[in-house]
Formats: sequence, structure tokens, C-alpha cells
Amino acid sequence: EMFTENQIEQDHQGAVAAPTPAAPAVPNGFAAIALHAVLHRALADAGYTTPTDVQARAITPALAGRDLRVSSSTGSGKTASFVLPALQGVLDVRASSERRERGTVYGPRVLVLTPTRELAIQVAKATDTYGRHVQGLRVATVVGGVPYGAQLKAMRGPLDVLIATPGRLIDHVKSGKLVLDNVAMLVLDEADRMLDMGFIDDIRFIAECIPKTRQTMMYSATFAGNVGRLASELLKSDAQTIAVTSHTDTHEHIEQRLHWADDNKHKQALLDHLLTTREVDQALVFTSTQRDADWLADRLADMGHAVASLHGGLPQGRRNHVLQGLRSRKLRVLVATDVAARGIDVPTISHVINFGLPMKAEAYVHRIGRTGRAGRQGL
Ligand code: AMP
Repeated sequence: EMFTENQIEQDHQGAVAAPTPAAPAVPNGFAAIALHAVLHRALADAGYTTPTDVQARAITPALAGRDLRVSSSTGSGKTASFVLPALQGVLDVRASSERRERGTVYGPRVLVLTPTRELAIQVAKATDTYGRHVQGLRVATVVGGVPYGAQLKAMRGPLDVLIATPGRLIDHVKSGKLVLDNVAMLVLDEADRMLDMGFIDDIRFIAECIPKTRQTMMYSATFAGNVGRLASELLKSDAQTIAVTSHTDTHEHIEQRLHWADDNKHKQALLDHLLTTREVDQALVFTSTQRDADWLADRLADMGHAVASLHGGLPQGRRNHVLQGLRSRKLRVLVATDVAARGIDVPTISHVINFGLPMKAEAYVHRIGRTGRAGRQGL
């Protein structure tokens, strides 16, 4: 059910990577960063030549073992900024050829916490991409909504990187199926969102299970209020603060328009009209509730649109299937709720339509950031 990295990579880097299999002629901006050769190779494979702002600023201190408080959003390249140091840590341990007894559960070296299943899968894919030349790299994902069996199997063996949503992770820790004694690096991705979803006590519990000697990296759109307080609990006092703005903050590539509608019927007619225009490559339509998402998707399907709904009420298999349909372009329109749309990274989404308004300004920023990606224009 997992998507393969290739489908995304083709969309993003096909044009760059295809013609020359040899080393890139352009000077590689990553060369200045002290990463293992196999990681540099994976970056070259991905067609990356220049670190993004957050990568340029976070990777080196992370490699030096510093705790980090990073404010940045999706689209900034933040995933690589923690995955690369994480993988370097895994390689360093390998080099010191630490002995491992068969049959003992050691648990992961790196733990990444994410608010949603989708984001966890996204991070796992990035880990596979950047870790593709790390021999025998063991990555597992533990998220809610999928059967326990496969997850338990993945956790029984030796593990390098574990990517998890807090709720399900706690189940495994409490049942004794997973130990966190060997976690040397803890990453909290989209910490503000995790707190919005009520995970604060779960995060505290998990952090308590991990040795104090760990390195902690916290990523969040904001460090105001509770997130800031949690950061001061979890991070060492000499943690480095890094604030970056990305195109999802500045919206350079995103044009925003406001359409007035007389009533609900008019709004629906307007939506149908917008979706019918040729400029729409793929569109993401937001509703406020799961019920509205299903209802609207049904309605648009009746009108002949290639459409599906995506929300947290759907089983994980179905959600993966829908996202796959979007990537493979079988679907042109996705009707989604905020939670489900988190972490969607499909560069061909040309339009984001706020059919139901978001409850928070921050949700709006996240919504519109699903378009205008990978240097494209979005509306
Ligand atoms: P993220 O903010 O981590 O979700 O990354 C946003 C997108 O940027 C992803 O599709 C990455 O594959 C891509 N990306 C990350 N780092 C780079 C880079 N240095 N050069 C080009 N693309 C990148």
C-alpha cells in the first residue's frame, strides 16, 4: 500500500536527472556539508544541487550534535534537514561496528514523531530516498489505522529509523513491544500540529522513555505558547534557534483570489465552473467536515469529475489508494479536510479551493501551500 518514491521523483526531477548519468557538471552546493559519500550520492541522484535555506542552516549544527528549534514549514526542504543528519548518525554507528546480539530488541537509533499518518509516510519516503545507498538501512513506520501485525514484525528486528505518530507509538511502548532506550536522536516534526491534535501528554511520555543524553530537533511553524513551553522542556538549554521563511510562508508562487458567492447553490455552481476550466491541472478542494468532503465528492463525481474524497475517517488503505490516484493522475480533483491534506506533496496540484473556510489562519496557510510547489505557479 505504500507509494514508491519513484512516482514523485519522476515528477520532480525527471528533467534534471535523466540526460547525464555521470556526476553533475554544476558545482554541488552540498559539498560543503560534511555528509558521508553515500548521502551525497543520494542527493545527486535526486538532482539536488543546492541546499535550501533550512538545510544550509540546520544540517551542520545537527551533525555537531546540537539540539535545534527550527521554525519552518512544509515546502522548505525541512525533511532532508533532519533526515540527512539522522542517516549520518546511523552511518557513524555502523562505522564504529557496534556489536549487536541476535534476538535482542534494541529499538531504533532515530525516532521521528509526526502528527499524521500521511506525514509519517512522507518522511519515510524521504528517508528511503536519502538513504538509498546506506547498506541495509532499516526504516519502519508506526502509525494508527493500520493493522498491528506488520508493525510488530518490523519492530522485532534491528531498526535504525522509526517514524511514528504518537498515539500508536505509545501503544507499542506500553505493551513492551518497543524499547526507546537506544534512541540517540529525537525529531518532532510539525510540533505545533501535534499539540493542536492533543498529543502533548503522549509526547511528554515518549520523551521520558528516551535517555536524556539524546539529541532533540523540534520543527514547528511557530514556537509561541504551548509549543514554546514544550520546546523548553524537551530541548537542552543551549539549543540553537533557526527561523526560515519558505515559499509557503511568502507565497511567491501562489496567486490568491477571493470569489463572492450569493448562496450555497451559487457556490457549488462556481466550483463546478472553476474545475471545468482548462487551467486546472489538478485541484485540491477543502471542506470543513468529513461529511461535506464525502458529499461534495459524490456531487462532483455525478457531474463527471474524476474526483475522490480524503479525510481522517477513511481507512488507511483507502487513503493511500486515493493519494496514489492523485499522483498517477487518475484523479484530477481531491476533496479533503485539513488533517488529511497535511503532508500532501503532489507538484501537479495547480489549484487549491477553499470551499469550506478553515477555522484558523494557520490552516489556511497550510492549505494553500499544497500548490505552488517545486517552483511551479499555483492559484
Ligand atoms: P519538505 O519541505 O521537506 O516537504 O520538501 C519540499 C520538497 O522539496 C520535497 O518535494 C523535496 O523533495 C524537495 N527538496 C528538498 N530539498 C531540496 C533541494 N535541496 N533541492 C531541490 N529540491 C529539494
